[in-house]
Amino acid sequence: MKLLTILAVLCLGVWLWRAQRRPSVKDQTPQPGRTQSEQAPHEMVACRSCAVHIPAAEAHVGKLGSYCCTDHLKRSES
Ligand SMILES: [Zn+2]
Repeated sequence: MKLLTILAVLCLGVWLWRAQRRPSVKDQTPQPGRTQSEQAPHEMVACRSCAVHIPAAEAHVGKLGSYCCTDHLKRSES
């Protein structure tokens, strides 16, 4: 009977420990969300001059739009 009580307490302890760990797993789920937000800057834009698609973060943004390089930006906007 003593062994059964110890086992029951152990099971309860493990169950409680696992129940407490689950919210922390939920807290970690925003991390993939963070990686998605990190992936967001990889949005592609087309160069207004040659229509080449480049990541928005690497695009040269002018008054009229985005360009793949400063050369195309200067050529299209001057
Ligand atoms: Zn271009």
